[in-house]
Formats: sequence, structure tokens, C-alpha cells
Amino acid sequence: MSQTTAASSTAPDGVPDELRAVVDRLKTEVAALHAELPRNALVVWTAGNVSARVPGADLMVIKPSGVSYDDLTPEAMVVCDLDGTLVEGDRKPSSDTAAHAYVYRHMPEIGGVVHTHSDYATAWSARREPIPCVLTMMADEFGGEIPVGPFALIGDDSIGQGIVETLRASRSRAVLMANHGPFTIGASAREAVKAAVMLEDVARTVHFARQLGTPVPMEQADIDRLYDRYQNVYGQ
Ligand SMILES: [Zn+2]
Repeated sequence: MSQTTAASSTAPDGVPDELRAVVDRLKTEVAALHAELPRNALVVWTAGNVSARVPGADLMVIKPSGVSYDDLTPEAMVVCDLDGTLVEGDRKPSSDTAAHAYVYRHMPEIGGVVHTHSDYATAWSARREPIPCVLTMMADEFGGEIPVGPFALIGDDSIGQGIVETLRASRSRAVLMANHGPFTIGASAREAVKAAVMLEDVARTVHFARQLGTPVPMEQADIDRLYDRYQNVYGQ
């Protein structure tokens, strides 16, 4: 397979020429989406990351490790295969790359993954407590409570496994990994970022509701109706 001279590939194969345009477009998109994380107050320092699956290939575009948000240009983004091996880029991929890769390997319908330590969602993670579905926007976006995933240490597939097992058992596009923080998924990276922003909003509001007293649960039939309408009629 021929190589473009502009590519700084580090793997033998690099990015195939026929994927050059789509990979470059995804680098631009993922770089722009990273700017949404500090803009929405979801991250501090270099924590937090967004990735996008490259359609039709076992590749993803993800944030490099330890780079300031101001320096996250499209050119700074890295490409990895779905085992987390660097395929293209000047820097090491995010330390959460293995978790993103595991999600893409096991959830073929997913096109984007986001991880943050956003304040309110992470506070619920610290309590290992699901966020109860007490708001219509939670029913719309998440179809029910936000579930808690297992406690898992970085370094192998256990974070990815915990994400996938928890989300498979739920309609939610967000999971609160125990004592760690949220991961969100979506059909695209943009959808996953939207879920991360919405998650932090509902985590904050339900926290405030708790300070005022006891939030009132919603009827399951109403949650189902809201979710169905939002996902199938209002959305798309
Ligand atoms: Zn983390």
C-alpha cells in the first residue's frame, strides 16, 4: 500500500490512501469537539478525551496524551487501530485509548466515545449511585437512570468491559464508572459529546433537587413514551 508523503505514519501500514480524506475530516471534527469540553466546563488541565470511529475501517481518531486543549489542532490528533496501536501521529494516544478501542470493537453501532471527569457526574460516580430518572430530559436523552459501572483500573480491558457490559444492560448512552467518572457514547463523536454535556447538566440538577428534598420518580410508562418520541420522532 502506497504512502502519502505528508503522513507521519508510525505503523507499517499507516492510513490507507483511500481513507485519507475521511480521516482528515474526522481529525478536524474531533479537534473541534475537544474545544466543547472546556467550553462546557467538563474538564480541567488535559483530562477528558473524545474519539471517532473511522467508518469502514478498524481505525479511530483520538486525542493525543497530555496536550493542552489550546494545542489540540486537527494535526495534533492521532489515529489508532481498534487494538489501541498508534497508526498515525506524532504523539502517544490518550491513556484512555484502550477503553475507547474496546467500545468500538464490541459495539459496532457506536461511532463516538467521550470520557470526562465532569464535576457533578463524577460526584455521583464517587458515591457509586445511579442518577435517578426524575426529569423529562433524562427520559428523552437517556431513557431512564444513568447506571453505575464497575470499579476498574486503567491498564487492561477492564474499563472497556465495564462500559460495554453496563451500557448493554441499559438504554442510557452514559455510564458512571465507579469512583472514576463518566463515559458517553453516540452514533457519532458529536452525539457522544452532546450526551456528556447533557449528562453533566442532569447530574447537577438532580443534585440540586436532592438538596431541596426528595426528587419524585417518574412513571415507567411516561419515561418510555418520552424516550420513544425523542429518539424516533423528534430526533434524527
Ligand atoms: Zn478518567
